[in-house]
Amino acid sequence: MPLDILKTVFGYNSFRGDQEEIIHHVLEKKDALVLMPTGGGKSLCYQIPALIFEGVTVVVSPLISLMKDQVQALQAHGISAEYINSSNSPQEEEIIIERALHGDIKLLYLSPEKLLTVSSTWLTGLNLSMIAIDEAHCISMWGHDFRPEYAQMQNLRKQFSSIPFIALTATADKLTREDIVGQLNLSHPKTFISSFNRENLSLNVRSQIPKKDKLKEIKRFISERSNESGIIYCLSRKNTEDLADELEAYGFSVACYHAGLPPQKREHIQEAFINDDLKIIVATIAFGMGIDKSNVRWVIHNNLPKNIEGYYQEIGRAGRDGLPSDTLLYFNYKDVVLLKQFADQSGQQTIQQEKLKRMLQFAEATSCRRRILLAYFGEHLAENCGNCDVCNDPPNFIDGTIIAQKAMSGIVRLKEKVSVNMLINVLRGSANAEVIGMGYNKIKTYGVGKEYSFFDWQSYIVQLINLGGIEIAYDDKNRLKLTPYGWEILKGDQQIQLTIPKKKEQIKKKSSALVKKETDSQLFEKLRALRMQIAKEENVPPYIIFNDKSLKEMAADMPVTDNQFLGVSGVGEQKLLRFGEEFMSIIKQYKNANKPVAKKSTLSETLDLYKQGFSPAEIAEKRNLQITTIYSHLASGYEEDSSINIMPLFSSDNLLTIKKIKSDLGAEDQNKLKPYFEQANEKIPYHEIRLILSFLSKDV
Ligand code: ADP
Ligand code: ZN
Repeated sequence: MPLDILKTVFGYNSFRGDQEEIIHHVLEKKDALVLMPTGGGKSLCYQIPALIFEGVTVVVSPLISLMKDQVQALQAHGISAEYINSSNSPQEEEIIIERALHGDIKLLYLSPEKLLTVSSTWLTGLNLSMIAIDEAHCISMWGHDFRPEYAQMQNLRKQFSSIPFIALTATADKLTREDIVGQLNLSHPKTFISSFNRENLSLNVRSQIPKKDKLKEIKRFISERSNESGIIYCLSRKNTEDLADELEAYGFSVACYHAGLPPQKREHIQEAFINDDLKIIVATIAFGMGIDKSNVRWVIHNNLPKNIEGYYQEIGRAGRDGLPSDTLLYFNYKDVVLLKQFADQSGQQTIQQEKLKRMLQFAEATSCRRRILLAYFGEHLAENCGNCDVCNDPPNFIDGTIIAQKAMSGIVRLKEKVSVNMLINVLRGSANAEVIGMGYNKIKTYGVGKEYSFFDWQSYIVQLINLGGIEIAYDDKNRLKLTPYGWEILKGDQQIQLTIPKKKEQIKKKSSALVKKETDSQLFEKLRALRMQIAKEENVPPYIIFNDKSLKEMAADMPVTDNQFLGVSGVGEQKLLRFGEEFMSIIKQYKNANKPVAKKSTLSETLDLYKQGFSPAEIAEKRNLQITTIYSHLASGYEEDSSINIMPLFSSDNLLTIKKIKSDLGAEDQNKLKPYFEQANEKIPYHEIRLILSFLSKDV
């Protein structure tokens, strides 16, 4: 039963991960706590039971925009769903309550405030089947997004004791998890924890890229993904404005977004982004909370995020539809200095510093990044992922002891008084004024590192810092110092491995590892335009009509019958009914316009010869083709142009026989050749049947 609903209503072929188990559990009226990453498919876990249960399922959700999105998506699938929150007028609310009381609504979304104010009024009159609490971590003070309204839901469980409760969240550590269960008073809940691995997201990191190069890279990255939506996260409001300006000047469809903008403007930008009218948003982390847009194709971090939780959540906004999407993180040591200061001022210095350190470890990783990321969330990945920059281009390790000793002896001889750039200048024997002025050209290590470029030295020194041989004294003009471990290397008591610096411009082009089918991009654009037009007419975001995944499948498989169309992922009966014809007519047009040219000419060549008086057998010989092919050319030719005289090619007896059989056959069989062949006692050859049917098709 749940599987039937998955197929016919939602248009998907199979459940993902724990979905089926969760649904069966809930259908037994038992409580559940569901942990699934963003885009994992939490919604179906309560939506399908809601359709099976009698009565109304109430869904508590903290964000108005998310609620609206979900309800629109459900309605597009033909499900009666509504929401009540502060955005409804009293009249609208009245009507929805009436309908709910009448049992006309299957899923009713409520904000937590609303739920609390009505829990003792009309809510008690509803035939309630279940309560689902989305973003359940909001109930916990331990979570990162505590909401007092959620905390007040403690008594609900007792009040509605006979129905199941299901709590869902994408982020919850162990403490928060226990807190959710306790605060909601869930009764013997089963906890379902899904993998947090988002395989469709490629993970890429670029370190220490000068600002100008970074901008160039970002522009190229975006250009390679024209027409795709993406988000760029920056640390400061000013950054977002500057970068958005730069990109806009370059002709991209872009806007900046941060908490300092007037609410109306923010809403407007968000709306435009959701509706695909605006492709790129440059934002502070204030952006994205309420965004459920499924076709964000890429996320760039312009700076290092302050912890892995935040990073994971932000990259998680890409690829919710499961299609390959790219993420790219830039960081440099200035970010680290700044973030260290933030951490110190945060009031939770130790823990924030520790989190920053873990973030940095991820960014500096020389082994599979996904394994590191998942390990942070307590998940163990058995193999390298194959979809991160480290996997795609593994670092080459070399014995770096001598390189390290050169740098370290430089630091010591410069009395631990210089920062990175000066050290490199000295090592490379630069004759710049500052070096000469300080007399650094006289020390013994001057010029010992000429063979490496400035860029290479930068990379080596960064590695030595990461590996704990050198320290940056952030509190002392960023001067470089040797650690005890560094001294051991310098003295030759320790060896050290370094990786050969990557050349610039090595970021992966469009990831395509996960794209299985070749989509026709011209057709895709046509379908996308139609989707946009319908979305505008119906005043919903385009992905509510069909998400990108569905469109891509359409462009690849080119369905032209109802059955084929139903085979597209995300197409249920309702969507077939509402949109099938329009989309299929685009596909048909496209197919016709793009019929292989060769076929056209081979057909007309046959027709030309026929018109000149050659018999089918002669044409077959001339053209070195099967005679049946010639007959089929003539049949198709006749259907398009009935002035071609095909009468001489079949006997009038056979014509009458086929005509009779046709009138006896059901509509279903009339277009197949075999029934005619059999009913005519196998006496009329197939090619002749085909010709006669073409003839009859014009005989009205
Ligand atoms: P979450 O709430 O966990 O972030 P959603 O419930 O919004 O994720 O689901 C993310 C996307 O995956 C949606 O587009 C949804 O329709 C799709 N999806 C969910 N379950 C399946 C499934 N079994 N097969 C295919 N697509 C699915
Ligand atoms: Zn990897």
